[in-house]
Amino acid sequence: MTETPEVRTILYIEDDPASRTLVERTLRYAGYRVLVAERGILGIDIARKEFPDLILLDINLPDLTGREIATTLRADPKFDRTPIVALTAQGMREQRNMSMAAGFNGYLTKPLDVEHLPSQLEFYLGGGHDETDAAAITEGQSRYVKEVVIRLEKRIRELEAYNADLSRLDSLKDAFINIAAHELRTPLTLLIGYNRLLLENPYVKSMLADDDGARMLTDGMAQSIARMQSIINEILTISRIITNRLELSVAPVSIAETIQRAMAFYSTTLSERKLKVEVNTVGAPSRMLADWELMELTLRNLLGNAIKYTPDGGTVTISVTADPGEGPEDTTVRISVKDTGIGIPIDSLDRIFERFNTTSDPMLHSTSKTSFRGGGIGLGLAVAKGIVEAHGGRIWAESAGFDPERCPGSEFIIVMPLMAMSRRGVTGGLTSITSKI
Ligand code: ADP
Repeated sequence: MTETPEVRTILYIEDDPASRTLVERTLRYAGYRVLVAERGILGIDIARKEFPDLILLDINLPDLTGREIATTLRADPKFDRTPIVALTAQGMREQRNMSMAAGFNGYLTKPLDVEHLPSQLEFYLGGGHDETDAAAITEGQSRYVKEVVIRLEKRIRELEAYNADLSRLDSLKDAFINIAAHELRTPLTLLIGYNRLLLENPYVKSMLADDDGARMLTDGMAQSIARMQSIINEILTISRIITNRLELSVAPVSIAETIQRAMAFYSTTLSERKLKVEVNTVGAPSRMLADWELMELTLRNLLGNAIKYTPDGGTVTISVTADPGEGPEDTTVRISVKDTGIGIPIDSLDRIFERFNTTSDPMLHSTSKTSFRGGGIGLGLAVAKGIVEAHGGRIWAESAGFDPERCPGSEFIIVMPLMAMSRRGVTGGLTSITSKI
């Protein structure tokens, strides 16, 4: 039985498409397996994954230079023996010395000699190495170090300028979000007012009393208005959180009442979707110092998610406990909202608190926010996090993973100082402070 000759792999890193095609075709025709990369970083990634038998590369690439690629690969013992060969238009002696100092085995200059390329590469594949003397390497090394340092400085300056641009764009986006939400709120306020007047009009009232169809329309309109209002408020709150303008009105808050109000907000949905909410506050402190409106919003967001991501008939458990800590000042309240829903992928547990991070299907965004896996814009948890942190607390999620069949459930846990603001000099009563998030 004849042995099939082993096909060797050559990785060619070159940004010029014409050279890439020519070399690729030539080497394929000569029987090699050829991998190509048009940028240095991509080339390094391919090399680390595929371990080619030889790496052929250009020196002038848009990201890393060929020399930097060689240095990076040579730093890894796995590439100790891999032939690295330059194929470049840089024909000067200094450039060659620098490249040999960076770890190349060979230095081929363009124009490309297509006919002899395979035999030239065979030389390196067989362990061949271009001749170089020690003096040339020393000279190449010192030049190469200077080249790298100069390029590094240039790169850092470019990245800093780029970063400044991104920060500016980010601020513009934040300002835009804020302005857009404010602009939308004005006509919405009018819409709410006109709608109320309309519903209070005696003619309309008597018509609605007799006409189920018309009442369905006005109910639908009221629901849509309420939804729009809650989205706009969510955007405004997140905008305040981003720009450090979230005002906390801190006062003693009844924890149980805040939970009850959040539940009352979803009472219709809870009964329609046959979801049970169990509240366990045994042994919990009855009051805490916090901004009740923002705390209610936080609980509403967590409960709303528990409803949204739990199939009909499931259970949501809200538990409150206290941890006394070292002394009264250190007492913390722990609020947990646990559901029997679809769960969260373990690698997303942190990411879901980022702004506009949503797994909801955008196609469902027009459907109810409280239907199973209904729409959302990915702000609820970011708002909750901003509010909890503004109170000096922490919020995180726990779940055994995402599984809509088995429904492993999710738990959202808030730990907040019982007297969040006392450490900042607030002793109770109605106080307004600006958060420092
Ligand atoms: P939205 O619900 O509008 O998408 P949120 O910020 O409230 O935005 O939530 C972000 C993402 O976190 C959701 O898209 C969902 O993937 C996940 N998530 C939040 N709460 C739950 C939960 N109780 N169960 C499963 N996934 C959840």
